Order: sequence, then C-alpha cells, then structure tokens
Amino acid sequence: MQLLWLRSDLRTHDNTALTAAMERGPTVALYLLSPGQWLQHDDAASKVDFWLRNLVTLEKGLGALNIPLLIRHADTWDLAPEVLLQVCREHRIEAVHANDEYGINETRRDQAVARALENAGVGFHHYLDQLLFQPGSVLTRNDSYFQVFSQFRKVCYSRLYESMPRPVRTPKAQAPLSIKSDVPPTRVEGFATPSASLQALWPAGEEEARQRLERFSDERIQDYQLQRDFPAKPGTSQLSPYLASGVLSPRQCLHAALSSNNGEFETGNTGSVTWINELLWREFYKHILVGYPRVSRHRAFRPETEDLKWRKSSEDLAAWQEARTGLPIIDAAMRQLLDTGWMHNRLRMVVAMFVTKNLLLDWREGERFFMRHLIDGDLAANNGGWQWSSSTGTDSAPYFRIFNPLAQSQKFDPDGRFIKHWLPELADLNKKEVHNPNAAGGLFAPNGYPAPIVDLGASRARALAAFKALPGRQSALEPAYE
Ligand code: FAD
Repeated sequence: MQLLWLRSDLRTHDNTALTAAMERGPTVALYLLSPGQWLQHDDAASKVDFWLRNLVTLEKGLGALNIPLLIRHADTWDLAPEVLLQVCREHRIEAVHANDEYGINETRRDQAVARALENAGVGFHHYLDQLLFQPGSVLTRNDSYFQVFSQFRKVCYSRLYESMPRPVRTPKAQAPLSIKSDVPPTRVEGFATPSASLQALWPAGEEEARQRLERFSDERIQDYQLQRDFPAKPGTSQLSPYLASGVLSPRQCLHAALSSNNGEFETGNTGSVTWINELLWREFYKHILVGYPRVSRHRAFRPETEDLKWRKSSEDLAAWQEARTGLPIIDAAMRQLLDTGWMHNRLRMVVAMFVTKNLLLDWREGERFFMRHLIDGDLAANNGGWQWSSSTGTDSAPYFRIFNPLAQSQKFDPDGRFIKHWLPELADLNKKEVHNPNAAGGLFAPNGYPAPIVDLGASRARALAAFKALPGRQSALEPAYE
C-alpha cells in the first residue's frame, strides 16, 4: 500500500505525488491537522478554514479515484514522524509520497519523517510540484541563488525554452479499498470560523479554481498589464488562495496563460507575458527562502538593515491595523483585508511602504499582521513583499524611493471608487477630496473619519534619516546584484 501525504497540494489534478503513488500501487491519502504549528506560523483563521473547506471537496475528488482520505492530528510538527509511523503500521504502508514544501520548519519536519520511516523500513519519496523549477537549479554563474529578479527570470525563460514543465496525468480510479475515509472537521481549535460573506468570496474546490483560471485567461489576461494596478477593477486573477493551498498548480496556470497567447511566453500578448512574470515572482521568492534560510527566521535579507532604528508605537500600529490612519487609501485597503482576507497587490505595496517608511515600524510587525489575516498567506511571498517595501530585502525598493500614499491613491484609484466602497463615510466627497479629506477643510472630519495620524512630508524625512544613519548604508543603498 502507498501513502499520499497531502499538505499544500489540495488537489487531485496535476498532483505529482498523487500520480507517482498511484503508479506504484493501491494508495491511501493522509492529511495532518496541526493547529499548534499553524498558530506558531501565524496562519490566518480564514486560510485554515479554506484548507478545511477544500478538504471536504478533496475527499470527494479522492473518492472518485477510490482513494480514502485519513485525517490525523499532530498538533505540532515534531509529532509528525510518530503519527506517520502509526498510520504506516496500521495500513502496512510500503512508501510515503509527498510534494515538497519550502521553509525551515517544513524541511526539518520532512527530514525527521524521512529518517523515522527509513528506520522502520518505509520509503519516503518527495517531488517537485509546488514550483516550476527546483530551488537550487536556477543559479548564477557562481552557483549562488539570484538576488535580482530580472536575472532570475532570464534564466527561467531559457529553461522554459529547453523544457516546458507539463501538468501530470491524473490516473484512472483504482480498485476500491476496504478503508473508510474520515470526515474533515469544519473547524479546529484556535481558529475562528470566518464570516459567511468571506467564505462566499472564496468557494472551495478544484472545479472553482479551474473555472476562475479559465475565466481569467479567456476574458481578462489580455488586458492584465493595463488593469492590474487599479484596485477598483477586477484586473487580477484572484487565484492566490488557490495557488497558496495547492488547489491549483503553477503548471496549470502557466499552460492557461500560454494557450491564451498562442503558446508564447516571452513574446505575443503583453498581458499574458506580464502574468507569467508574476508566476515567476512567486517562484523567485520561494527560491530565496531556500537559498537564504535567514528570511525564514524573520531576519532581514540585508543584514546591515538589522541596525535600523524602527519606532515602537503601539498606538500607530493599532491605528493601522484597525483601518483608522486617516489616510483613505490605507484604511480602505485594510478594510478590504479584514473583510475579505485578501488585498490587492498595488495596495499591499502602498500599505507596506506606509507602515515601514511613514510610520517607521518594523516590517516584521506588518508581515505578522498580514499573515494573520491573509487567506493567501504565504511565507515566501509575504516576507518578500514586506522586505521589498521596507528596503531590507533582495531586489527591494531603494530606501529613498518612498511611495506617497496620496499620489498612489490619485493615480490608481482616480475616482475614489475603491475608497468609497470600503469607506462609505466618505461617499459624499468629490473625487479630489476623497483622497485627502483632511485637506479639504482643516478640521473637517466627515462622518467621524479621523485626521491623518502622521504628516507625510515629515515622516518621509524621518525615514530617510533613519536609513541614512545605518552604519552599512552603502550596501543598503546599492541595488543587490548577483
Ligand atoms: P495575480 O496578479 O493574478 O498574480 C497571479 C499569481 O502570481 C498570484 O496569485 C500569486 O500566486 C503570484 N504573484 C503575483 N504577484 C506576486 C508577488 N509579488 N510575489 C509572489 N507571488 C506573486 N502573495 C501571496 O500569494 N501570499 C502572500 O502572503 C503575499 N503577501 C504579500 C505581501 C506584500 C507586502 C506584497 C507587496 C505582496 C504580497 N503578495 C503575496 C504578492 C501579491 O500581492 C499577491 O500574490 C497578489 O496580490 C494575489 O492576487 P492575484 O491572485 O489576483 O494575483
């Protein structure tokens, strides 16, 4: 008997480990509930709920292949070897099959499991599946990991020309087994069930993911590069929760983009090419996670920025988290996050820059809060995004290029449609006033909307001074080259 250990690959289609296990023989699947570990990782309640809802549809999908799904509890991952061994003994498992996950704790868990299984005479096979390229296979001429995205992308393109990763075949159903599936729980200890309205925005299941991908690649990908920066428009795919939980694979995404572009990935339609680049950003940050494990430990990618004198202000932090900074674009973005578990990419950048530059709060505070609320929370992308914005990361924004939230607001939400949707108290303002209600009339605070908690000009100067005071400023200033 083969055991398919499912983690962040909650799908039956194009699942490398599933196909490999079934090719070897009769297969049973396992999912571990690890709420203690999830809490340590700051996983959001909306994300855990999304996993659980996807387990329900996955159990049905596996059922169509006659694969029973076992659900076991290993509160923290140090218990994983013991729980897996128990399952292996119970079902006389010959080998365990799992798709690779990245990050220090995931790697340590898998190493411990592999050792325990080996001692018990059980095989452990793991596969590249979450990414298009194996971390460590896209390297500079000096055999180090790329630190600059454009150079990483160039090598990815040449690899794609050499050999395009293809979705794997989904096997035919196996003969029924006499093992009964477990019923996935509807909630786990420590994670509240999100609102029904949030759940309705993110229906579970591969079918939903496939339809979203199809709709996006049929109807919107062509204009992606024109629309993707405007948060009031549905210009992006909103596939991130499905990709982060592995309900959808990057190969499925790549091939959908290719078929909307006559098979071209570097030329042809700019929308498709730009979208494929985003898939490569996802790839890039996961490679960084593996190549520079310090980012998994909440350390800055650029060590010299560890000396930066971040401010400590629980009031400012709370005002940001509770969407009452008095800057409409920031508050609207935070309401979107709190209500939907998702935030538009342009706003993630604007918000992260505001927190780390204008408020001069440590990027780790922002990273943690995002992780606790994002339904698509992903260590590599979230860490990459925060460190990019705070100029502490690889290939990050130079510290002196600070976004002005008002200018960003005027440019990317010109009519204030996004702002008014999330801040209805500003609905009566015209499209000029809505970006900066305070400027419209001194003490003017429409419907109790607060005045800005920070002066943008003075806080910008404060951030510049803090970065300039860094002892290793030269290297913090220069862009990172390989
Ligand atoms: P699309 O524009 O349709 O892009 C397609 C896919 O490409 C996304 O679903 C995602 O998987 C990937 N992608 C796009 N942009 C990036 C990027 N910059 N880095 C890595 N992958 C990318 N993305 C996450 O998936 N999880 C996170 O926790 C996360 N945190 C972020 C935090 C900050 C501060 C910033 C600036 C960005 C973060 N991102 C994160 C990246 C990006 O904002 C989201 O992937 C994107 O908004 C998801 O929406 P979409 O699916 O409509 O994206």
